[in-house]
Amino acid sequence: MSIRVHQLAKELNIPSAELLAKLRALKVDVKSHMSVLNDEVARLIKEELTAKIRKAAAPPKSKEAVRAKRGKEAPAATAVLDKETKAAEPAIKGRKKIQIKFPFNLKELAVRLSIKPSELIQNLISEGIFVNINQLISQETVKRIGDQLGYNIERLPTEEEKVLEIHSQPSAIAKLQPRPPIVTLMGHVDHGKTSLLDAIRKSNIVDRETGGITQHIGAYEIKFQDKWVTFLDTPGHEAFTAMRARGANITDIVVLVVAADDGIMPQTIEAVDHAAAAKVPIVVAMNKIDKPQANIDKVKRQLKELNLIPEDWGGKTIAVGVSAKTGKGIDELLEMILLESEMLELKADPTGPVRGVVLESRISKGGPRASLLIQSGTLKMGDVILAGEFWGKVKAMFNYRGKQITKAEPATPVEVLGLLGAPEAGEKFYAVGSESTAKEIAEKRQLSLKEKGLQPPRKASLEDLHQKITQGEQELRIVLKADVQGSLGAVKSVLAKIPSQEIKLTILHEGIGDVTESDVMLASASDAVVFGFHVGIDSRAAARAKVEGIDVRIYRIIYEIYEEIKKALEGMLEPKLQEVFLGRAEVRQVFKVSKAGMIGGSFVVKGKIVRNAPCRVLRANEVVHKGRISSLKRFKDDVREVEEGFECGIGIDNFSGIQAGDLIEVYEIEEIARKL
Ligand code: GDP
Repeated sequence: MSIRVHQLAKELNIPSAELLAKLRALKVDVKSHMSVLNDEVARLIKEELTAKIRKAAAPPKSKEAVRAKRGKEAPAATAVLDKETKAAEPAIKGRKKIQIKFPFNLKELAVRLSIKPSELIQNLISEGIFVNINQLISQETVKRIGDQLGYNIERLPTEEEKVLEIHSQPSAIAKLQPRPPIVTLMGHVDHGKTSLLDAIRKSNIVDRETGGITQHIGAYEIKFQDKWVTFLDTPGHEAFTAMRARGANITDIVVLVVAADDGIMPQTIEAVDHAAAAKVPIVVAMNKIDKPQANIDKVKRQLKELNLIPEDWGGKTIAVGVSAKTGKGIDELLEMILLESEMLELKADPTGPVRGVVLESRISKGGPRASLLIQSGTLKMGDVILAGEFWGKVKAMFNYRGKQITKAEPATPVEVLGLLGAPEAGEKFYAVGSESTAKEIAEKRQLSLKEKGLQPPRKASLEDLHQKITQGEQELRIVLKADVQGSLGAVKSVLAKIPSQEIKLTILHEGIGDVTESDVMLASASDAVVFGFHVGIDSRAAARAKVEGIDVRIYRIIYEIYEEIKKALEGMLEPKLQEVFLGRAEVRQVFKVSKAGMIGGSFVVKGKIVRNAPCRVLRANEVVHKGRISSLKRFKDDVREVEEGFECGIGIDNFSGIQAGDLIEVYEIEEIARKL
């Protein structure tokens, strides 16, 4: 368990800034109020500060003094910025070193530490941890036990880490071969993306003689002038950015489709910004030139305004007039795509480890089918692959014409049979050396997905800005929406007042109107925050922001934006917190467990009781203690939560005064986005 500085400050009822100052005086290495303190440190600090608040004066004690007072070893880490289980903690000299590969059960640990399992169980019970011999032990606990028994525990990489390590090695330059470009079409609705994709596909069918029928597998390949090009066949910036938000940057070239009779429209601008945020080059297809109203010059003028200056006007942007209807200009467009691709010098190693991205997947009668885009290596029949939380052995592979193939090289889309489930689009897939390894990793991923539930990933947020800066981040990316053009300008001029030596502000996309799902996805894909001025947020966008963990801030007063960014730069922006009731239990009987302290044999009367959650103890309607659920048991087993209508044993940290009849109320603290 860990706690952020601002949460601890709230518990101690002092401002975060004051706690930060105190922590620094105690030489605890904290960067901001968002820094995470591990449990041990938090407990020491709490003791230290409550004692000090009582004494009211006394000079700050050093960290060592705090430790000495407790007669314990150094806490695992003073302040950890991510997981407490980081491997890179300093080893203590002169101790026996053992290497452990997690996960690890109690029996194995006992063997490695050369003590009897029963002794280890006793030891853990005395700490309030109830585990049986086959139960897995957390890294934190293993480390602590190791410390107590005089071992330096070194964590060996997991199977998953080993696989990812293999795939993160760069390929030898000598093995790199040119590969086909991967192209996505984008543009305003009805400007002809689908028609153009169809026209390109039909005019360049590769294997006419096999008579296959086009299958929708998320992408198709064409051969033009003896060179291959792969087109993703879900056009539009929404799909493009959704993929990026999942971590899959697969597009090499964006073809921006602009209807020459209509010109640049709002979604054209969005598409340009989405492509620019992904740093993907754009080739413009000015479509519908067969129409009498088509006005190429007007489109070029508008492109110039978007900083896409056409080549024949002295710029760098390739813009080709085409007609999806008559087929005019399509060959020239393909030539330009190949030219752009040559300049990008796209290469991959067809002999190296196989990996790529899931384009889409579905469950069919014959089992799960996944469309994969190979990015490196050559996928073959019989290969064992891991995709998200699923694994499988490639039983059959098909190309986009439904033709069975036996191998697929980089930039090839294939539909694969053999996975044991349907992974999500945008998931990365890897070939893995053995079935047992793939299975082990997939099962662990499934387990951790279950444990994590629907917790959103933490993306960029203003609150974390200070911490990020101290870690070397120098840019704050922003998606900006406002009610009218005038306000957009006003907000931008206020943002320009932020000194650039403090932070570089990059506006990825600006637009008029409410915050949309597309804005949120762009922020998610580019690790950006969303600022809205005098606008709303539609319900889909709000829901999406929650799932993606995006910081959306809506302002009514222009100067507030400036103030908040300034505060965030100083690490002084406090998140708004709210308490959410989780459950209530009634204590029916009290037991004493050696060292673990008093355990309340309780009955959950409402909601649920959750281990490690903050709680308060009520007696005759008065709060007699505030703390945390430090242990939670159903019979002999340690559990994470107990539902309404069940009995359980509850231990509360640092509280031995529990009595029968007490009510234990459990809640969680939720950070709420400000002004949303
Ligand atoms: P999307 O929404 O961008 O995918 O656009 P569609 O491909 O669905 O095309 C929208 C409409 O424009 C359809 O009615 C097409 O037939 C028409 N269209 C597309 N390309 C052309 C073209 O080159 N010339 C003409 N005249 N019509 C086109």
